[in-house]
Amino acid sequence: MARLVMKFGGTSVADIERIRNVARHVKREVDAGHEVAVVVSAMAGKTNELVAWCREASAMHDAREYDTVVASGEQVTSGLLAIVLQGMGVTARSWQGWQLPLYTNGTHASARIKELNGEELIKRFKERNEVAVIAGFQGVSQETGRIATLGRGGSDTSAVAVAAAIRADRCDIYTDVDGVYTTDPRIVPKARRLEAVAFEEMLEMASLGAKVLQVRSVELAMIKKVRMFVRSSFDKPEDINPHANHPPGTLICDEEEIVENQVVTGIAFSKDEAQISIRGVADKPGVAASLFGPLAEAHINVDMIVQNVSADGKKTDITFTVPVAEFEKAKSAISGLQSKIGFSSMEGALDVVKVSVIGVGMRSHAGVAATAFRALAEKGINIRVISTSEIKISILIDAAYTELAVRTLHSVYGLDG
Ligand code: ADP
Ligand code: ASP
Ligand code: MG
Repeated sequence: MARLVMKFGGTSVADIERIRNVARHVKREVDAGHEVAVVVSAMAGKTNELVAWCREASAMHDAREYDTVVASGEQVTSGLLAIVLQGMGVTARSWQGWQLPLYTNGTHASARIKELNGEELIKRFKERNEVAVIAGFQGVSQETGRIATLGRGGSDTSAVAVAAAIRADRCDIYTDVDGVYTTDPRIVPKARRLEAVAFEEMLEMASLGAKVLQVRSVELAMIKKVRMFVRSSFDKPEDINPHANHPPGTLICDEEEIVENQVVTGIAFSKDEAQISIRGVADKPGVAASLFGPLAEAHINVDMIVQNVSADGKKTDITFTVPVAEFEKAKSAISGLQSKIGFSSMEGALDVVKVSVIGVGMRSHAGVAATAFRALAEKGINIRVISTSEIKISILIDAAYTELAVRTLHSVYGLDG
């Protein structure tokens, strides 16, 4: 007997027929004698629709009311799944975030989980053999006392939090792909499914654009030592042996558990980047601080930064990237600094993409970056900005070359299947 969390994403609960399919997966585990907590997303496209309605109602809407609206998508699917399960003879009860309660901080629309006690759910497993069907993405703020949502893709994080709270043996993330691939399989058909990915690598992949898991879910899993298993909800429930040790999918776990370690594990890309270049900035102490200080105060997330060493010791250029949504805000914050800092001009570009090469194996291998630069050069792709860390290399290029760059890097590191 094991205790499981089963999380189902939007495409997996897109209509009643798919909810029935999800219920069959749940029943399969219950029949095998497991204790099960299910976490569901809203039906595919529903959250986008709700977000659009908020924008239509008012561009400057209140974040607490936004949360009231967008949390409703998961309320619907949790109730529907409980109904279908009950109809199949499975004891089940739905739970909204406030009922658990899953407590968050007060940052509405991207709240962070503060506390979740799983004892009541465990008691019900023991006393009534009851399946908990939990609305993902939502909780209740300890600060405001109101419904709060966890940011887009947040049901993954709900699932990990539930897994930690009930001390689950596994946290299965059922989605529309059968695991984590070397890159987005929608872009590169030759992408391969990975058997296992280290927490740290998954964290980089998710933050650098692989939307398969929300970044915070991986962060939380790493801290709480929750093993996540990404798998397909489209597999036929009756074809799966619940007692099998290795159903198809990708395990997200500690680096030490992974036997086969390649130098490069995957390629990610993000179109959510905008470039800003400031020309003719004085090359003297304090200039970077007076530029990035005000951006930080305006809560603008600066990502890649490059500053040239000036030839004459007087003037230099600074280039950095910000999320697309913060581009205009960043530009106007900097324009306001022109008289204080004294730069000659500012340029911006939105048609850029950040492509990243990720792998824990990079720690012990030299020449990984050089390989990427050579491969891109051979395809005539110009590099705008480079940034590196111990286990990743990120390269900013023109958006028009996204697919070519991702495919080229995927193949040069031997990832093609
Ligand atoms: P869900 O609705 O189940 O949460 P998501 O759309 O959030 O599903 O995540 C699954 C999608 O992530 C896949 O359909 C795939 O296109 C995309 N994706 C991006 N990068 C990867 C990757 N490296 N491996 C697998 N899927 C990826
Ligand atoms: N429904 C929410 C979203 O689309 C949360 C999730 O699916 O994880 O962002
Ligand atoms: Mg998702």
